[in-house]
Amino acid sequence: MISRSLVRLQQKHVVVGGGIAGLTTAFNLLAQSCEDLVTLVEKAPDVAQGASSKNGGLLCPSLDYPWTNNSVVDIYDLNNGILPRAITSPKTSPVRFRPSSLTNTSVLDFGMNWVGRAQNSEPIGALMQYSMGLYKNEPQFAGLDFDQGLAKGTLIDGNLDERDSSGDIKKFCIGLKDILLKEHGGVGGRFRILTNKRIGKAVTEGDEVVELRVRDENLGTMSSVVGDSFVVAAGTGSKGIVGDIGVACPTVPVKGYLLTFSSTTEVTCNMKLPNKMFVAPMGVDEEDGKFIYRCSGLAEFGGAEMGVDWEGKERIVGDTDRAALDQMRGVVCEDFADVQVIDEDYGFRCLAPDDVPLIGRTKYQNLYLNTGHGSKGWTMGAGSGKLCAQLILGMQTDLDPSWYDPLRFQARKDFGLLGGGAEFGQKAKLQNA
Ligand SMILES: Cc1cc2nc3c(=O)[nH]c(=O)nc-3n(C[C@H](O)[C@H](O)[C@H](O)COP(=O)(O)OP(=O)(O)OC[C@H]3O[C@@H](n4cnc5c(N)ncnc54)[C@H](O)[C@@H]3O)c2cc1C
Repeated sequence: MISRSLVRLQQKHVVVGGGIAGLTTAFNLLAQSCEDLVTLVEKAPDVAQGASSKNGGLLCPSLDYPWTNNSVVDIYDLNNGILPRAITSPKTSPVRFRPSSLTNTSVLDFGMNWVGRAQNSEPIGALMQYSMGLYKNEPQFAGLDFDQGLAKGTLIDGNLDERDSSGDIKKFCIGLKDILLKEHGGVGGRFRILTNKRIGKAVTEGDEVVELRVRDENLGTMSSVVGDSFVVAAGTGSKGIVGDIGVACPTVPVKGYLLTFSSTTEVTCNMKLPNKMFVAPMGVDEEDGKFIYRCSGLAEFGGAEMGVDWEGKERIVGDTDRAALDQMRGVVCEDFADVQVIDEDYGFRCLAPDDVPLIGRTKYQNLYLNTGHGSKGWTMGAGSGKLCAQLILGMQTDLDPSWYDPLRFQARKDFGLLGGGAEFGQKAKLQNA
């Protein structure tokens, strides 16, 4: 019998999404195969424009517990009354529900899939450790300048966890894109990036996806991209792409806030502050010598009124954002001296009901997901991409893939709430796509 690897022909892989998940998947598809062609499709003008454009900066394997976990229910803090606080005093709670979350079908779909979910830390912990090993040891990553390791550990409740570190996700993604283009791009190369191209509908035949419909964001023209395998790694946009073809991806966008500031206080580790906020060191201001930090936190559920991702020109939308960022600044000022705000922003975590990413094959035999990384996708990113690529290429995987199997939600898909629309806040669905 001839082994699969001997008869394998050149494959064409299409990866949707130029965030950490899509880029690391593309990187590994190219690295693990000698001939295969990879096309990465991104709706924004460049890669790293979604959650991977700016985040808390924590590479944090100590935070391996899912948001469903009892020990984290901490995040809802039932014992301390935080869940009620989310309702009775939303302005001070780390978890918030905008009124629209009560009627938003994506949130309801998420909620119904959330009920009764397993709560163990193993899947996230294993993926984080795997990933941290790759950030450290993968030769190509070692050459990237992404401010890795400005933080030595994370200080939580007085204890320092030495496993943790920090790094700039955007620098990593841009650096990785440059490597991919340099090594595999150009005429006759195996890699290309299509930017300003928004994927709408997937076209299926039997149990296969045969093409994805693409809209050029500048010209408004429609076209298609064909392939042998398709990976949807589009963060909060993933559900909108696969929902219409009956693939269960019950993720929701959960808004988080980001405050970048300078201070004369020097801290060389990540810190957990009150109200579930975290701070990571980001470097030193060359002009005044002050230390730069990023604070991240708060988890807000809602709909379109929460704002948009990279397309938002005006990033701070209304009183709710203002209040959240002011609250964050207040918390920061308790531990840091001479705080000067450099930048205020927000992002959307793509959260799965069990807070475990969806990595692997869907009900279509050539359609894969690599999404739902919630609040930990930077820490898990390198590992997610490698695992996804190994699955697509039919290789032995380094991790048990069953933990991340997207089909775990498929059995519960018939809530009737599956359709697209998770890509909120803008031209969510392609007309005529
Ligand atoms: C406030 C905040 C703080 C965080 N802090 C941390 C942290 O400290 N540590 C940590 O480990 N993780 C953190 N995270 C999580 C981490 O940033 C994310 O999990 C990770 O960046 C997700 O990467 P991704 O590639 O899955 O998604 P994204 O980075 O969102 O990439 C998806 C890409 O797909 C594109 N796209 C979407 N729809 C389409 C479409 N239809 N067609 C074509 N392209 C499309 C988007 O434009 C985007 O570029 C944080 C997240 C947030 C929001």
